[in-house]
Amino acid sequence: MNLGASSTEQKITPWDVRGQVIDGVEVGIDYGKLMKQFGCQPISEALVARLEKQTGVPVHPLLRRGAFYCHRDLEKILDLHAAGKEFYLYTGRGPSSDSMHLGHMIPFLFCKYLQDAFNCFLVIQMTDDEKFLFKEALTLEQCKGYAFDNSKDIIAVGFNPQKTFIFPDTMYMGQMFETVLRIQKMINFNQASSVFGFTESDSIGKIAYPASQIAPCFSQIFPHLFGGKKDVPCLIPYAIDQDPYFRLCRDIAPRLKLIKPASMCSVFFPALQGFHTKMSASDVNSAIFMTDTPKQIETKLNKYAFSGGQATLEEQREKGADLTVDVAYQYLRFFLDDDQELERIGEDYKAGRMLTGEVKKRCAEVLKTFISGFQERRAAVTDETVHHIAAAFFWITYRYDFDMIP
Ligand code: ATP
Ligand code: MG
Repeated sequence: MNLGASSTEQKITPWDVRGQVIDGVEVGIDYGKLMKQFGCQPISEALVARLEKQTGVPVHPLLRRGAFYCHRDLEKILDLHAAGKEFYLYTGRGPSSDSMHLGHMIPFLFCKYLQDAFNCFLVIQMTDDEKFLFKEALTLEQCKGYAFDNSKDIIAVGFNPQKTFIFPDTMYMGQMFETVLRIQKMINFNQASSVFGFTESDSIGKIAYPASQIAPCFSQIFPHLFGGKKDVPCLIPYAIDQDPYFRLCRDIAPRLKLIKPASMCSVFFPALQGFHTKMSASDVNSAIFMTDTPKQIETKLNKYAFSGGQATLEEQREKGADLTVDVAYQYLRFFLDDDQELERIGEDYKAGRMLTGEVKKRCAEVLKTFISGFQERRAAVTDETVHHIAAAFFWITYRYDFDMIP
């Protein structure tokens, strides 16, 4: 496409999410284009139906309403599962702050559903190494501290403690290192810079980092879960900006004689200001945080949530709302379980029988219930819970280090 001076193509990398800009206006992220560019397949209705039938568990709204919208090799995973074979889930968190928001919760919520539906292991990588290397202002001690505290948030999602392993890279690297080395040897600078955009002035730590995030795709690094087996397949749910890592992983897996991981990719949870951009921790007004009070949730929705409704009451009654751009309605699509209620709200709002204020009110109720449930579970998570769920000896030393920081 020929773009004018004030126009730019979309740019989606693990560190930067910017929608396309046309004539100075941000028009948003073209997810179909990303899927094609990254070589993923759409998750068809037939595939969703198969998943439901095979697990006997109702499909999560994030899947049946298309937030998780494309994949690689999901059929293969389902075939293996149907044949009684084991697979595991892998996800992660970059611990750069204490403030996790609704957008960060999406892959975790989805993993919980998948773990319950398939009764499988889930490994969760805390990339304290990555945040230390990529965030200029953060010290290693801070990154480790955030990893520990973020683990509590993750545990509060409610994973099966018998089947979940949370590990910070700085502590688990010894166990991963041989695999990390083998991966590092497969990737040259040209490849890393074309996939991730590294330049010669980036630290060598950054350039080597992708191997840390790729290693957990291979079951051999978890001998305590898989008895040293190298061939337990991995399924990774993630927001689409993380795709470069796993694309690269699939590229090198055959050369390492290891299994390519399967993926399920999601769209971003939108900012309060609308779909053209994602909810982001660094723009406080774009995000609803997991620590927000009921009052804050209400205020943010009322004040900032972009409305697809009309400017005046009369106009809204006459013309109705544009659901596709309405943030409160779209949040309900992610978080309201009840299909019938969602459909009713959609129809009434679109026809002008419902007003923006009413939809925002319902959205606030749903989010308040979700977040207060989360906060209750979070309050019950102790340091000991973290030790327990993450293989005690790692975390005890880890925490010990952390406590030594004045
Ligand atoms: P910052 O504004 O400081 O960059 P952030 O909110 O963008 O923070 P990151 O730590 O950059 O959060 O996000 C890490 C990963 O979490 C992202 O690469 C992405 O995969 C996922 N993520 C972040 N925000 C969202 C979102 N709104 N929807 C879905 N996934 C998200
Ligand atoms: Mg970011």
